[in-house]
Amino acid sequence: MKELLFEKLEQSYGDMVEIRRYLHMNPEVSFKEEKTAAYLADFYNKLGIEVRTGVGGNGLIAKVKGGKPGKTVALRADFDALPIQDQKETSYASQVPGVMHACGHDGHTAALLQLAKAMHEMWEDLSGEYVFIHQHAEELAPGGAVSMIEDGCLDGVDVIFGTHLWSLYESGVIYYASGPVMAAPDKFHITIQGAGGHGAAPHQTKDAIVIGAQLIMNLQQIVSRRVDPIESAVLSVGSFISDNAFNVIADQAVMTGTVRTFTPELRDLMEEEIHRVVQGTAVLNNCEITVDYSRGYPAVVNHEKETEFLKSVAETIPGLRGVEEMKPQMGGEDFSYYLEKVPGTFFFTGAKPENAYPHHHPRFDFDETAMLAAAKTLGAAAIEFQS
Ligand code: MN
Repeated sequence: MKELLFEKLEQSYGDMVEIRRYLHMNPEVSFKEEKTAAYLADFYNKLGIEVRTGVGGNGLIAKVKGGKPGKTVALRADFDALPIQDQKETSYASQVPGVMHACGHDGHTAALLQLAKAMHEMWEDLSGEYVFIHQHAEELAPGGAVSMIEDGCLDGVDVIFGTHLWSLYESGVIYYASGPVMAAPDKFHITIQGAGGHGAAPHQTKDAIVIGAQLIMNLQQIVSRRVDPIESAVLSVGSFISDNAFNVIADQAVMTGTVRTFTPELRDLMEEEIHRVVQGTAVLNNCEITVDYSRGYPAVVNHEKETEFLKSVAETIPGLRGVEEMKPQMGGEDFSYYLEKVPGTFFFTGAKPENAYPHHHPRFDFDETAMLAAAKTLGAAAIEFQS
């Protein structure tokens, strides 16, 4: 039965590319994906596949019921784009100024649509039920997963699989990892209120730039001196702004940054330590420093049994260029919320093109043949899960 599915997917590859390029040329940013959602609904309606729109916002779920009883398997693809100006020179570059599919979500969507179509065509031979989750708003907290779950997208679901195409990994290779695979991405915003004055009279001021520079160095000691070296954490200051004339001592400085962790314990520790270091630096300099710390998605933690299952299924798929274990990544993903509710695994599908750029880069692109590898792996996992 898997053979028939692979055959159908191979045959649909041209359509997959066409859909991907259409989506790529017509991107919409997170929480504003109305046209994309309508396009997806139209795809399913034309085929007579049951679809529910407006799930937790712009999300959709389509369902294919097999001819025989079995388990319910959910497969997820996200469909939002990013506020980035496309700088690629291709016939399918974005036609929307300042908006671009720079993370491959167009590819996830095209792969899932063709998989749903293929499985719909063979529904009589299938066991169980298949839920195709088209998730809106992955790129922007609070994300679309939470609202879709609240609106019932996981009701009755026994297991979930999802994949991310990855432009820096070898195309056609499936990458799996058990346990934490993507980090919890938090952010902080710090305001240093000093006391400005004349550059020639520092003793009458509280120099927000000097205090800020000291604070940045103090923050660097959290990962190097407070975190167990066997664990992983990142603290990066992304901006440090205080713009004044050359002979002025800064009254105020503002900085922002990100924190990445894999466990709830370490996440709490990082937040606590940032507050402590900020307070200490404020006391030392007799000034006011405020921190606004906001939490993003939790870490994506893959379930061991389902990851092992995915790996063994992938190893039997003809046409893949390999199945490899991967190291966790420090990026974030709201697939984490699904895995907090039901067992499953989130794997990566290598999609390195000839000229590879990282995700979220204005020249980002991926090797489209990887969509076929992604669709085959998701489909094979869904079908095999019944046996
Ligand atoms: Mn993404």
